[in-house]
Formats: sequence, C-alpha cells, structure tokens
Amino acid sequence: MRWDGPVLNFSGAQPCPCGSGATFAACCRVLLNGERQAATAEELMRSRYTAYALQYGDYLFRTWHPRTRPAEVLPAPMAWTGLIILDVVDGGPEDEMGEVEFEAGYLDGDRPTVLRERSRFARRAGRWFYLNADTLSVD
Ligand SMILES: [Zn+2]
Repeated sequence: MRWDGPVLNFSGAQPCPCGSGATFAACCRVLLNGERQAATAEELMRSRYTAYALQYGDYLFRTWHPRTRPAEVLPAPMAWTGLIILDVVDGGPEDEMGEVEFEAGYLDGDRPTVLRERSRFARRAGRWFYLNADTLSVD
C-alpha cells in the first residue's frame, strides 16, 4: 500500500500500514497505544514499522532494548510505502530470541526505494524488544 507521507491522525478504519490486511484499529493500534503487548517478534516488527510510518517515536523507544536503544527516538517524516516480511526465525511466545527479515519500501524524493534488513529481537520480562539489525543489499 502507499499513502501520502506520515499521517499522525491516521484513522482506525484505514488499512494498517504494516500490510496485514486488517484495519489499523484491529491491528497495530492496540500495540502502539499500549493496550496490548506484541506476542511475537514478527508482531513487534510489524508494529514498529507502523510506528515509523505514523511517527510514534515513544513506541519505538519503549520497544527498543535498553541495551541498544538511543537516548531518544525521533523518526524522521518519511513516506513509507509498504512492508514485506521475508523470513522469521523463532520469536514465538515461548522463545527468548527471534529474527525477522523484511523489506520496507519508502520514497526517496519521489524515487521508490527498498530497505532490506534482518532484525533481531529479544524477550525480556515477558515482553519483546528490538535489539539490532543488519542492513542487507537488495537484489
Ligand atoms: Zn499492523
């Protein structure tokens, strides 16, 4: 999907930016507003993509592992255009670690661009946190 730049007042009735096919209200919004915690690393990955797309810097900070997170997280306004999950290793409700490889599309000016990363997640005190990532070349 695509939309025109960051939208802070994103309607719950719109398709969720993470590409799940569900509405924002039925998908990432409950995670972003703290009603529920992500149950899996993939779910956290999707919600963090949505947080970047909608500029929920506070959520990005709260879900970043204390060991690796910066002092503050201020997502730049960027036109994210879609998320594709390519691979998931572990990261289930009973796992301690997980990896998610994905491609995230964005507009560089008006040029469609793809960021490919393999992100690592760790579960700590029953909650999933983003740990770090390797940026991969896009074939
Ligand atoms: Zn979502």
